[in-house]
Amino acid sequence: MNDFSGMDALYRDFILDHYRNPRNAGTLEQPDASFEDLNPLCGDKIRMDLRIRDGVVEDVKFKGRGCAISQASASLLTESIKGKRVAEIDAIGKEDVLENLGISISAARLKCALLGLKVLKQALALKYADD
Ligand code: ZN
Repeated sequence: MNDFSGMDALYRDFILDHYRNPRNAGTLEQPDASFEDLNPLCGDKIRMDLRIRDGVVEDVKFKGRGCAISQASASLLTESIKGKRVAEIDAIGKEDVLENLGISISAARLKCALLGLKVLKQALALKYADD
């Protein structure tokens, strides 16, 4: 028996829960920022819509399909950015997303785990490029 097996099972349940019951699922009408991208390696697709007021993310929705890691990671990300300042979101790195997932992600699944973050950063980059 290894001491971490129980913990791994817990984290898998946690990821499956986000996959089956994604938080902030859906789209926003007239979002202030929006982007959609895919990970052709796995067939994952994610769209993220943001409502931003005075530099704060008031609301966020995401819509996607694909593997559990990609969808759970996006769901977790939307939870963590709601109510945050755009400057704080700019500071979110890949390590933060991987840490939130709480399991070790193989190199082959990194693009799955990080697709949500990529979409989020692109949405913000486009929004602030327009201003
Ligand atoms: Zn995937």
